[in-house]
Amino acid sequence: MKRTPLLAGNWKMNGTLSEAVNLARDLFRQIGKPSGREVLVAPPFPVLTCVAAEILPAGYLLAGQNLHWEDSGAFTGEVSARMLVETGCSHVIIGHSERRQYFSETDASVAMKVGAALRANLIPIVCVGETLAERENGQTLGVIERQVRGALVNLTRSAFPSLVLAYEPVWAIGTGRVATPEQAQHVHEAIRRLVTALSDESSAAMCRILYGGSVKPDNVDDLMSQPDIDGALVGGASLKADDFARIVAFQS
Ligand code: PEP
Repeated sequence: MKRTPLLAGNWKMNGTLSEAVNLARDLFRQIGKPSGREVLVAPPFPVLTCVAAEILPAGYLLAGQNLHWEDSGAFTGEVSARMLVETGCSHVIIGHSERRQYFSETDASVAMKVGAALRANLIPIVCVGETLAERENGQTLGVIERQVRGALVNLTRSAFPSLVLAYEPVWAIGTGRVATPEQAQHVHEAIRRLVTALSDESSAAMCRILYGGSVKPDNVDDLMSQPDIDGALVGGASLKADDFARIVAFQS
């Protein structure tokens, strides 16, 4: 089954309004309109609307970096799924390891956020990944299984084909230490088996699984040559237009 590769840039808490608009313009200058692959950017909330104006006409996709599980209400500082949709988002990143680590997100809150995204027709990009200690203790697949099952516990079968999962080993995020293509493929294959068990073979064959963790121009080709790696979730390198353009132009 041929899945359209998805190259996603997570800008995290970087970029003032003018910087974000300049980056979006630079990206378009360098990437143009990609064919046969999808390009997505996830800027900070305050700049979503302005970045949308730059990138949606080019056919790129827009994502929020987080959302609240309620549709509205007294939740100071939070953002709802419908708010993201109105800015032009089609996707939302959920359960990034920085949110789990610094903002106490749990498998249960991730599951509620996935539910909120789907109610608003936003496609969730659900992040999972083990810490270095968990990998060294041989717990990688157990941790991944717990996180995937926890996040998708309430998913109906029809939601699986468009779902995006991102395998992001915590020890590889922002460290310059990338998983080898074989290490990543091993986990991606396990995730796809798990998604098959939770849905069915054809849904699992359509679901995209991104790799994230120090993806750079010089390692993207090898990663993308693996059969179960369907794209990349890129942090640091997505802030440099020429690096991200090279990642989008991966060869495998
Ligand atoms: C990320 O934060 O999702 C990420 C993968 O970051 P980096 O590419 O900088 O490791």
